[in-house]
Amino acid sequence: MNDATKCPACQSEHAYQDRDLWICPDCGHEWSPTAGGTAEAPADAGVRDAHGNALSDGDSVIVMKDLKVKGSSSVVKGGTKVRNIRLQDATDGHNIACKIDGIGAMNLKSEFVKKA
Ligand SMILES: [Zn+2]
Repeated sequence: MNDATKCPACQSEHAYQDRDLWICPDCGHEWSPTAGGTAEAPADAGVRDAHGNALSDGDSVIVMKDLKVKGSSSVVKGGTKVRNIRLQDATDGHNIACKIDGIGAMNLKSEFVKKA
């Protein structure tokens, strides 16, 4: 029995295997087990900004380019400081959830921000 499998997203020990996937009931994360048990370099170990600095929940970041806000005509200007980000799992790359003054809640891609 392998009881060492934890959810890579939230470290929950409640993860279970379903066919070829592991599923975490706590956060909904799904992932494929690493074949062979070899520890490969984790490609997505944490969220990194445009300069490769690791980001954490609660960090402040600066938007590096103008970003159109989906579903509105608003634009987040490059240079906008965003406080209190929250990292999230996102298959489309929008791995930062945040609230921006004058815009509201939105998601950002970490590649377009730098740590403040
Ligand atoms: Zn989880």
